[in-house]
Amino acid sequence: MKQLSAPLLPGATLGVLGGGQLGRMFVHAAQAMGYFTAVLDEDPSSPAGLVSHQHIQTGYQDPEGLARLADVSDAITTEFENVPAVSLAALAGQCFVAPTARAVAVAQDRAQEKAHFVGCGVPCAPYAVIETAEQLAAVDVGLLPGILKTARLGYDGKGQQRVQTAAQLAAAWHHLEQVPCVLEKMLPLALECSVIVARGADGTVVHLPVQRNLHRDGILAVTEVYEGNVPAALAAQAVAAAQSVAQGLDYVGVLCVEFFVLDDGSLVVNEIAPRPHNSGHYSQNACDVSQFELQVRTLAGLPLVQPRQHSAAVMLNLLGDLWFAHSDTAQTPAWDAVLALPGTHLHLYGKTVAKHGRKMGHLNITAPTPDAARATALQAAALLG
Ligand code: ADP
Ligand code: MG
Repeated sequence: MKQLSAPLLPGATLGVLGGGQLGRMFVHAAQAMGYFTAVLDEDPSSPAGLVSHQHIQTGYQDPEGLARLADVSDAITTEFENVPAVSLAALAGQCFVAPTARAVAVAQDRAQEKAHFVGCGVPCAPYAVIETAEQLAAVDVGLLPGILKTARLGYDGKGQQRVQTAAQLAAAWHHLEQVPCVLEKMLPLALECSVIVARGADGTVVHLPVQRNLHRDGILAVTEVYEGNVPAALAAQAVAAAQSVAQGLDYVGVLCVEFFVLDDGSLVVNEIAPRPHNSGHYSQNACDVSQFELQVRTLAGLPLVQPRQHSAAVMLNLLGDLWFAHSDTAQTPAWDAVLALPGTHLHLYGKTVAKHGRKMGHLNITAPTPDAARATALQAAALLG
């Protein structure tokens, strides 16, 4: 595996696998600091491809495309955890790659991910791996009611089924075509939160403040970040747990760790994302260093300095549904009215077609106090909805 012998200074080219919105915001952050960028994504109108200096339009497994990316880049990262780990491993022979194929492989597979949490001593939901009919038959009924999740490729609540009984579990596994799955016990959630950590090759770890998240239909809807969003003792516990999860992977890059807080006040880790995360978007406007700048810094081997949040923040996800709020045909939402509210920052991903459930952008709302941020968020939501 190639390592950096010295920091890559502005003027170098940073490559990214994946052309989605996370790649686009990475590209924006890299370019703002004077780097050149290269994106690999087969979609000619991918959000990141549209704004990158170079756009290699091939699939993630195309050897020629990967070789070209390695050729033009001084370091490569990923914006998407389902990039095949073998592609990252192949690139790492030619170029510095962060995070590593191994770390991404763990994040790609819920069974490996959970085994890693257990290995780090960080509590997660009671679970069982179901890969065979024998494992299905042997499942401890104490895990029911539970959620059956495909081990791989699930996102935004997709690839999951809630099951109450052993019969429902068997039917659900059949419905998921008997792919490897993890059955998790259904836990009583008081709230959900997440932490973004950034870890450098020298082991330095910094983090963003703990994010409190609200999901709708399995998709992140709102993130609130300010003093008191989560009890201070829990926030400290979440940061410490996120740091050990990163350390245990010898992780280099930006990592998001998602948690559940249960009704009894205990903290349980849910899953990790080996990249910036939707719940960290508020950092673009509410912190002096954003999660995307952290990604640039970890990739380029630049110093990591603990970020400081300077404003209370609420982030509202902007799904394609908003384009259909007032009509069956897509209509541009009233951005001008929203932007008349103080402290509103609009981020759109350049996707030309709005669809229900599609992430089109987000609105960051910053304010001097939590109450003011929440009040503006309510006004913005009313204008859009
Ligand atoms: P995804 O990869 O789709 O984000 P998650 O595992 O994070 O999948 O699950 C999506 C959402 O479903 C969570 O944010 C949480 O609201 C709910 N959920 C998942 N697992 C559990 C569980 N064990 N108990 C209760 N709720 C859960
Ligand atoms: Mg999740």
